[in-house]
Amino acid sequence: MMKPDDQQPHSLAVPRDLAPVDEVLHIPEVRELSERFPQEVVTAAVRAVLGRLRSEILDGEREVDASQVTAKSVAPWVVALVERSARPSLRRVINALGVVGHTNLGRSLLPDECVRAVASAAAFYSDLEIDLENGERGSRQVHVHDALCDLTGAEDALVVNNNAGAVLLALAATARDGEVMVSRGQLVEIGDGFRIPDILRESGAALVEVGTTNRTYLRDFEQAWTDRTRAVLRVHTSNYRIVGFATEPSLDELLALAHGRDAVMIDDLGSGALAELELFTEEPSIRASLEAGVDIVTFSGDKLLGGPQAGIVLGRSRAVDVMRRHPLARALRIDKLGIAALDALLRLYIDPEVALRQVPTLAMLRASADEVAARAAQLGELLLKRTAGADVAGGWPREGDLEVVSTVARAGAGSLPVTDIESAALAVRPARGEAGELADRLRDGDPPVLARIQERRVLLDLRAVRDQELDDLAEAVIRAVA
Ligand SMILES: *Cc1c(COP(=O)(O)O)cnc(C)c1O
Repeated sequence: MMKPDDQQPHSLAVPRDLAPVDEVLHIPEVRELSERFPQEVVTAAVRAVLGRLRSEILDGEREVDASQVTAKSVAPWVVALVERSARPSLRRVINALGVVGHTNLGRSLLPDECVRAVASAAAFYSDLEIDLENGERGSRQVHVHDALCDLTGAEDALVVNNNAGAVLLALAATARDGEVMVSRGQLVEIGDGFRIPDILRESGAALVEVGTTNRTYLRDFEQAWTDRTRAVLRVHTSNYRIVGFATEPSLDELLALAHGRDAVMIDDLGSGALAELELFTEEPSIRASLEAGVDIVTFSGDKLLGGPQAGIVLGRSRAVDVMRRHPLARALRIDKLGIAALDALLRLYIDPEVALRQVPTLAMLRASADEVAARAAQLGELLLKRTAGADVAGGWPREGDLEVVSTVARAGAGSLPVTDIESAALAVRPARGEAGELADRLRDGDPPVLARIQERRVLLDLRAVRDQELDDLAEAVIRAVA
């Protein structure tokens, strides 16, 4: 007898009993899952797989007769779904893109010293907010405060969750219900929709745009000034440059104006380079801003500094202290793992040579094109050695399948946008098929490898690949080619 349901048009193509849930639960491999995972989890996975199949069949995305969908045929999907959901989502990847501080890949890699400090702070209690001398409550800021001041000459320092937070806090603390002046040429979007004007609005300060996109003069600031003006914000356009016919007032001019009229000067440097690297000569210097007398300097911890995600605030005590005491400071506070990493990182900067060697971001940026090419050659040799005598895709690599080529790498994270960094890659020609398919298989591997494609070859840029990753990279390439 037909049930009422069966008269609906859908059910002609898809019977309700696509494969009964109970029947799937009795397939041995699914039963075995129930020994390792709670029954509800396994049952929910069976329902999810059947539901998805049903809608795919209904939508015509899957060309199967529903009667072919047996309990046995869906079991492997159920197993895969449950096992996948039990694995952490965040995976290690190999960055063969030649983009050092790639924001989507986690920006800076931490030096070993920082990794150890993070692991210890994560696994054990620490004196995060306790003064061990007297047992009284302390501040997490003490662990980085003095080192930041010593390294930069700043009067005072404060660290928050990230630089966007630092800018928000600076504006909320100094210009709430007042006006902030920014040059039109600096109203940047940093990426991922982070826009300076939006931050300004959320801080409660009113934005006053001054000048034009390419030319802004001191007199534009003077003319726009009102008795509600509380701050002048300079934003380092770290991810683009206006070149050619362009003018901005100097920092000294802006400072004289702001301080002459009792306003605060805020300098958002974005990348915040502390190391002395030739690549960084175009970057605004943290020390120079502080020496000039800027009240609040902000920058990221994980861009050119090479540390953890953090927003670092340096400057005059009077201004920084207002930020410290603002209620938002609590909402934006840096976590203990960030403090641990930054604390350890700053110790490395005490000796600039040590920082250049030990901080991966700096070491990667500083390596010469020849050094990177040597690493690319080393990867090539590893591939030859490991495929010798093995039958990989009918004799891969053949003559010319592997070649060291010159490339252009990037600093990433919007830093040094117009700086071409000469680099090198191993260009890999697939055994068969398109380079794009090889790149897809590399991305699909374990660990996933991210690479570029150029003229039918996959380019593995070695600038952002660490020595200890070479073995894994070679294995991943062989698996993807095979
Ligand atoms: C990157 C950047 C920010 C945002 O910093 P996060 O640490 O990513 O929050 C803000 N301002 C400028 C100029 C930047 O370059």
